[in-house]
Amino acid sequence: MHNILISGAGPTGLAAGLFLKKRGIDATIIESQAAISPHSKALGVNPRTLTLLQETGVTDALLQKGWKATAANIWKNGKTLVRVDLAKNGTDYPFMLVLPQSETEATIESALNSIGASVKREQVLTEFEVQDNKVIAQVNTDTIHADILLGADGAHSTVRKTLNIDFPGNSYAEPWKLYDLELDIPLEDNEVHILLVPKGFIFLLRIKNNLWRALGNIENLLELLPKGTDVGKIHWQSDFKISHRVAATLQQGPICLAGDAAHLHSPMGARGMNLGIEDAYIFAKLLAAGEIEHYGKLRHAVDQRVVKGISKFTQMPRGRVPWAAAARHALPFIAPIMLPIARKWLMGLDHEV
Ligand SMILES: Cc1cc2nc3c(=O)[nH]c(=O)nc-3n(C[C@H](O)[C@H](O)[C@H](O)COP(=O)(O)OP(=O)(O)OC[C@H]3O[C@@H](n4cnc5c(N)ncnc54)[C@H](O)[C@@H]3O)c2cc1C
Repeated sequence: MHNILISGAGPTGLAAGLFLKKRGIDATIIESQAAISPHSKALGVNPRTLTLLQETGVTDALLQKGWKATAANIWKNGKTLVRVDLAKNGTDYPFMLVLPQSETEATIESALNSIGASVKREQVLTEFEVQDNKVIAQVNTDTIHADILLGADGAHSTVRKTLNIDFPGNSYAEPWKLYDLELDIPLEDNEVHILLVPKGFIFLLRIKNNLWRALGNIENLLELLPKGTDVGKIHWQSDFKISHRVAATLQQGPICLAGDAAHLHSPMGARGMNLGIEDAYIFAKLLAAGEIEHYGKLRHAVDQRVVKGISKFTQMPRGRVPWAAAARHALPFIAPIMLPIARKWLMGLDHEV
């Protein structure tokens, strides 16, 4: 039986541990942080993720905690340009589940604990080397020997950097703004909303009760909320940069990369966490089947296609390239052709697993 080391217990590392354990494979999961990050981060759990997690029992638990968004609207000047029905997606989950990432992670970790596995917290992978196709890793002051190392250690991945794996792509110049804040807003509160505004967009999604996520690429985001909106307490605020990148390879010898360690993209499309959980599923499935050597090639192709698609899709709401203006103008006319494709992207169903 393999000795598996998973570095990072974000959604990707947690899901990898759980998918492996369900297949009878124990893994050592290490995490540098003492506790799950309290920030809401990824809010959308898509039907692909719900389908993959079904076998673990986590899906049922998530469904009890989140709420179901059944439509997404694109607005301009107070009028709906496009409405995407999220229910017609052909899966058992005719919606996008809305739940803060902190709660999704806590649910996966509790499923892990319930079957006798756990995360070793405050354990930092500092360095490692490969000898005879095996990994010798330094974790705090301990040396850990592993047959396979999964780098699920996020955007600044120690695993990716130690292997000198290139992370090609691009970053937008403008900072994006995020607020989790209390709003009294004249918008349907069980749907997703994207407001197109000059030089950008505002994404609006209710998290729970009157707490909303407002995210966008414009400085004065809160001043451009729909007329009649009352802004209340701000619970979390963050400025961040958007990059679209995929690691040059997702596998080197006995080491694999997954999740943000392997790919980064804009939150438009709600794929980051979901794609990481899908990487984790494929990693566990191939490992259990004795076919882990195929992991890198398989996932690189999928992840690269998804990141390229999201990068293109993001340009329209972002509104900073010349063709974005034309695309916005033509949106009501091209929508009937684009809607089924957009829905598949949003729901994580644009490719087979
Ligand atoms: C504002 C915002 C909104 C988002 N919205 C969405 C959304 O709607 N839908 C979606 O799917 N995604 C969304 N995302 C993206 C999502 O949050 C990430 O894609 C997701 O967290 C990636 O999970 P991960 O497990 O791969 O990496 P991470 O969550 O970054 O986890 C990596 C873990 O590794 C640990 N670690 C790092 N280095 C070491 C080390 N050397 N040793 C041990 N542990 C280490 C870290 O502490 C961390 O816990 C959003 C992100 C942000 C910031």
